[in-house]
Amino acid sequence: MTDNDRGYPSERTRVRRLPKRGVYDRQTLDSIIDQALIGHVGFVVDGSPCVIPMVVVRNDDDLLLHGSTASRLIRHLADGAEVCVSIVHLDGIVVARSVFDNSMNYRSAIIFGRADPLISRAQKIEGLRTIVDHLLPGRWDEARQPTEKELRATTILRLPLRETSAKVRSGPPQDDHRDRQLPVWAGEIPLRMTTLAPVPDPLLDSEIPVPESVRRFLAARARREPIAGRD
Ligand SMILES: Cc1cc2nc3c(=O)[nH]c(=O)nc-3n(C[C@H](O)[C@H](O)[C@H](O)COP(=O)(O)OP(=O)(O)OC[C@H]3O[C@@H](n4cnc5c(N)ncnc54)[C@H](O)[C@@H]3O)c2cc1C
Repeated sequence: MTDNDRGYPSERTRVRRLPKRGVYDRQTLDSIIDQALIGHVGFVVDGSPCVIPMVVVRNDDDLLLHGSTASRLIRHLADGAEVCVSIVHLDGIVVARSVFDNSMNYRSAIIFGRADPLISRAQKIEGLRTIVDHLLPGRWDEARQPTEKELRATTILRLPLRETSAKVRSGPPQDDHRDRQLPVWAGEIPLRMTTLAPVPDPLLDSEIPVPESVRRFLAARARREPIAGRD
């Protein structure tokens, strides 16, 4: 039986602890990535592990990472280093009757692979547009476009979403049945990222109104839509 027949793409993506929480379908993976703004990018450099927070954005079947062409991290990844990206949404603190069964509700994803840089100007522009509009949908068309110098100074890396896993926990505590009669409160404290009112740059001309992208973002958040959700 191959790893694919078992449902996970490779042995290293097999969830071992509580395997029932392992999820391998693309829909779950995509929704975790699409609602994330950052991920933690792990790699080994000169024999030493390093984990760096970065913006993560999905473009179809790839995860896009970007940074300064001069950055050690970016140069290392662009050279084809093995990379492992971890993304997590913390949804709640699970408060159990026993301290042993206290837990967290979460949606998390891990992506293994090697990234390669986008080369052509058109690919780089498209990649940057995807990244900018992921952070704030519609912002690309409102702001100044990158100069040739800025484009040269930026590397955009594409990591294929091939070797991936997701792990999800939701719902109430899973206390041992003998503990369920204890007179101890149990439940969940939901956690959410919130948005506050935008703060204009002190240097901003006060005549310039809050743009459409920011207004739409705030309206979507007021409707309790996810921070960076695409659907
Ligand atoms: C929320 C968030 C999003 C980010 N998004 C991006 C992104 O999309 N692209 C990007 O290039 N950079 C991003 N950064 C910055 C990124 O985390 C690194 O700081 C940057 O890439 C460092 O590059 P470097 O080559 O100079 O450092 P490196 O040579 O990679 O790091 C050298 C050393 O500096 C220290 N260091 C580096 N970064 C950090 C850090 N963030 N916190 C604490 N210590 C650190 C570590 O000790 C590390 O070993 C983001 C940071 C945050 C917090």
